[in-house]
Amino acid sequence: MAAMQNERLQAFVDEVAARTDLLQVVQTYVPLKRKGGRYWGCCPFHQEKTPSFSVEPEKGLFYCFGCHAGGNAFKFLSLMENVSYFEAIKLQAEKLGIELPKRKLTPAEEQRERERKDLLRVNELARDFFHNCLTLTKIGEPGRRYLAGRGITEATIKAFSLGFAPPAWDKLKTAFQKRGVTEKLLLGSGLCLPRREGDGIYDRFRGRMMIPIADERGRVVGFGGRVLDDSVPKYLNTPETILFNKRYLLFGLDRAHHAIAREGYAIIVEGYMDAIAVFGAGIENVVATLGTAFTVEHAKKLMRYARRLIFCYDSDEAGQSATIRALSILQNTGAEVSVLRVPDGKDPDEFIRKNGADAFRALTREALSLVDFRMEYVLAHTRHDTLSGKVQALHQMAPVFQGMGAGAARTEYVKRLASALMLEEDVVRDELRRGSREREAAPERTPLRREIRRSDSALDKAGRVLVRLATSDPGRLSEAETLVPLERVLGIVQLEILSALKKGGSETDIQAALSDEAAAELSRAQVDEGLLAGRSEEAAYQDALRVLKKAYLNQKYMEHSQLAEKYLEAGNPAYRVELQRVEAIKHELEEMESE
Ligand SMILES: [Zn+2]
Repeated sequence: MAAMQNERLQAFVDEVAARTDLLQVVQTYVPLKRKGGRYWGCCPFHQEKTPSFSVEPEKGLFYCFGCHAGGNAFKFLSLMENVSYFEAIKLQAEKLGIELPKRKLTPAEEQRERERKDLLRVNELARDFFHNCLTLTKIGEPGRRYLAGRGITEATIKAFSLGFAPPAWDKLKTAFQKRGVTEKLLLGSGLCLPRREGDGIYDRFRGRMMIPIADERGRVVGFGGRVLDDSVPKYLNTPETILFNKRYLLFGLDRAHHAIAREGYAIIVEGYMDAIAVFGAGIENVVATLGTAFTVEHAKKLMRYARRLIFCYDSDEAGQSATIRALSILQNTGAEVSVLRVPDGKDPDEFIRKNGADAFRALTREALSLVDFRMEYVLAHTRHDTLSGKVQALHQMAPVFQGMGAGAARTEYVKRLASALMLEEDVVRDELRRGSREREAAPERTPLRREIRRSDSALDKAGRVLVRLATSDPGRLSEAETLVPLERVLGIVQLEILSALKKGGSETDIQAALSDEAAAELSRAQVDEGLLAGRSEEAAYQDALRVLKKAYLNQKYMEHSQLAEKYLEAGNPAYRVELQRVEAIKHELEEMESE
């Protein structure tokens, strides 16, 4: 049965692939012009003024000669929309009107699905219960007074379905059990808690302003409750349930996403009261995290709608360090980040109440760039009047400068940083460069990207020739493998491609299996016309083999020389054998030179 489902899924993927026109897909995002056999445009993945982004419709591949992004139509969509490869296929299927084959759920999945539905239903009931309590009953009076005091209008109360939880232990429980909601469901949804002593359950939320929290599709998945006075805890959320996961949820996204796409940026605030205030003031592209740190999952969600993210956290110390943490999470995600600071230590809610929406809008236009914000923060948090403090400040700034690239802006910032630290500009420049070199050496920082960037040596080109020829003639790959141990000489990206090619499968399958870096390298190998440099395939193949073999021999030469030296130092007579090996390798290399 699983096999049949796989077959249907494969047929679905094949149909979407067959009906997908790469040119059409790309052109909905990037204007292209025809030149020679291909189409050119300005790359959507990096900033440029002259087109280096190319599309080859016959091959079904795109490739950017500037930033080396590349792949097929689905890779393009997945990069563009910031979704997984399979999600990109589904997106494209939706556009083409091809239906996803329905998979039969396992009993466990069916059970889970039922649970989700029940929880959603009970949450919806609770939303209405709290909302009616606030707007229609006498019990809701304190809630209404509180909201009026915060300047929250009836329209906003309605738009967000705000509510009030009665200050009693069992109002919700009793009402819901009368309607047939089970105790299990009341506990599972987090609306009730088990009594500490004896049997029975009681209401979790009591005497609080209730804010329903929805997922992106507007389905209520949990609640936030705020006290009306100064008692603690100030905020109380639904505990984690199968629906309520704070790592993924952003408050307000269901209402904000159209505005985020339209305005081209999202404003991220710390709490839902801030989000409600900002939204209520007519600035609709706003979301809030739910009392947790900003996560990569949050970033991915938002970047489906816009790449520009403006953080507007509280101006207290906690808010500022939360901002710094969020910013460090966003490095290497491609997000354009800036920071909006509300003057006079106010939070956005207070600021808008005092100064109005237009004043807040004006602040968004003056949001600080990442560099500016980081610079202010670092200068405020290091003792840069001492030498060690200056060095520390420079090191903390280095990653941000690294992300900037060269250019006039960088020069300007170096100047400013130098003057703030009272150092010579040259010293600052040197220190930043050293800082970034140290990071280059650290293997955990996106080594793949870097490998591709620097990959233009003869060895890389030889590997690329092999990749290209292996796509049309796998026999060449098997042959090359018997002549040179490829894993010793090729980089991980090319090795990843070769092993995927060996496994075989359709072009769509192969692209799906590859990392973004490998997909890009595969495209590059297939579309780069300079690669064969006028040679026949056979001649290019022989040249490539020679380069690979030479690289391998050079490696062995180094290894055995080092070994010989080590033995010699240790007085081990085995050094003679090693020296003989070195001589033999040297001889082989010379033979190759003279061929
Ligand atoms: Zn590019």
